[in-house]
Amino acid sequence: MSRVIRGLAAFFGAPLRAARFMIRGERQLVDLRELARAAQTATTDLAADVRRTEERLEGHGERLAAVEQQLEALRLDVSERLTQANLQLGALMRLLQRPPRSTDGHRDDNAAERRLSGRSIPLSVDSAEPQWAPVIGGDVHPDPKGDEWLVLDVCPFCGHAERSVVVEWNKLIMLAKAPDQQSDRYNYSLCHSCGVVYAARRPAGRRFQFLLEHFGEVTGKAAADGIIPNPLLNPYPLSDADKDRLRRMAAHGVWVSEHSGLKSTEYVEGALKDRFENSVHVDLLGNLVHPANARVLEIRPRAGTIAESLRRLYHADVSVMPMWESQSFLLKELYGFEARGLIDYDHFHIPFEGRFDLIVCNHILVHSVRPADFLREVHAHLNPGGYVYLYNEPEDRQFLEETKSIIAHLNPLHMQTFDRSAMVRALATCGLEVTFIKTRNSNFMVLARAVEGQAAWTRISPANLARRKEAYRLARDRAILKLPADMRERLGTEWTSAIEHTLAAGAAEFDDRGRLRFSVE
Ligand SMILES: [Zn+2]
Repeated sequence: MSRVIRGLAAFFGAPLRAARFMIRGERQLVDLRELARAAQTATTDLAADVRRTEERLEGHGERLAAVEQQLEALRLDVSERLTQANLQLGALMRLLQRPPRSTDGHRDDNAAERRLSGRSIPLSVDSAEPQWAPVIGGDVHPDPKGDEWLVLDVCPFCGHAERSVVVEWNKLIMLAKAPDQQSDRYNYSLCHSCGVVYAARRPAGRRFQFLLEHFGEVTGKAAADGIIPNPLLNPYPLSDADKDRLRRMAAHGVWVSEHSGLKSTEYVEGALKDRFENSVHVDLLGNLVHPANARVLEIRPRAGTIAESLRRLYHADVSVMPMWESQSFLLKELYGFEARGLIDYDHFHIPFEGRFDLIVCNHILVHSVRPADFLREVHAHLNPGGYVYLYNEPEDRQFLEETKSIIAHLNPLHMQTFDRSAMVRALATCGLEVTFIKTRNSNFMVLARAVEGQAAWTRISPANLARRKEAYRLARDRAILKLPADMRERLGTEWTSAIEHTLAAGAAEFDDRGRLRFSVE
């Protein structure tokens, strides 16, 4: 029996198992489909969730950025206010520490009358490395590697080594264009012995020549197109057309009357102006040098007033050495002078034989690359007891005590600056003994006599040295704070210390609304 049943079971069992298996498989398939559907739904839902979350996050991000911005603004505001509070506190402390008012009430009598500048000074500025556009014409700079810098280890006049850097930059730091990206650093230094302030790093050779050739642009004096409107100051070589034009203008002579009907562009207007402005030097020389029949050399004459007057009034034998070709041409056309040589500020050389009784120099010591060599060359061409007369040498008071910016003053052709004592000492070191010095229109007129060896001089006293150093440092800091708004970033890292020092010196103060302003004396 059991064999039958087992046989039947075996006979029917396999299809039954198969059928059961198939039924289970179909169910599983259905389950799988449902699972897949559910998974798809879940995925879709999840994607939607992600999208929604992303959108929400985006919204949060925007809000977060806005909050961050507000925080940064707040931080700057707080920092600005803290700086302001700090500076004000410092100013107050200094005020408290000042000695009490004397019984005559002299100290602060002017405080109530003290005026403040119209423009206020920002308490902080950003900082950025300066970048200069090339000078007009985009001329390739002749010294790209910077080989033609002259670095002075000692004072170019007295040879003393101790000095203090008082201003690091020349005027290029506030101009848009420069010869190259390394032309702005001169490290003007105060000599601890003679008191001259000199560029310890100065351009020589072709580097200096390039500056001279682009005189108008590097001093910020040219019009936007680089043209110098005054023909007497034109530094560029003359074309034939230029010469024809100047010849026609000069043919009208010096004394052109205003009722002649000529337009100012039709004659050399500067020639008569030069007579009126420079006849003062003729008067001085006539009285102090007595140049009758003297042999005279005029270096860098302006429009020939001094040379012509000494020749006419004192029968002096006059030679002239102009600066530009345009000047040389006009001196010949206006007065018949045969000029010789053009001035070389680097290797200065007098191209005339023999010695002179008087050498007149206009605005040259300030630009001289090797000033002691220049003065020695002048000395070597003077008769014993002969005179050198220097005029238009800027007195540094114009940017130390007056409001002019020292950085704007020190254009890249300015190699040294003087006060009266420094000028006297500097000349003495080169054998020139000052016999007369007078300041006029912020410039020196100096007459000095050639002596053997050095003329007697004594070094600056420690007290005067300290005063001079402080005056220069204050002028520097004031000039930084006076930079045009679009140039401030170049000296942004100097800004805070410049404010602190200017406040400490009483050259700036806060107004009643907490804005910083310059004190106007
Ligand atoms: Zn010196």
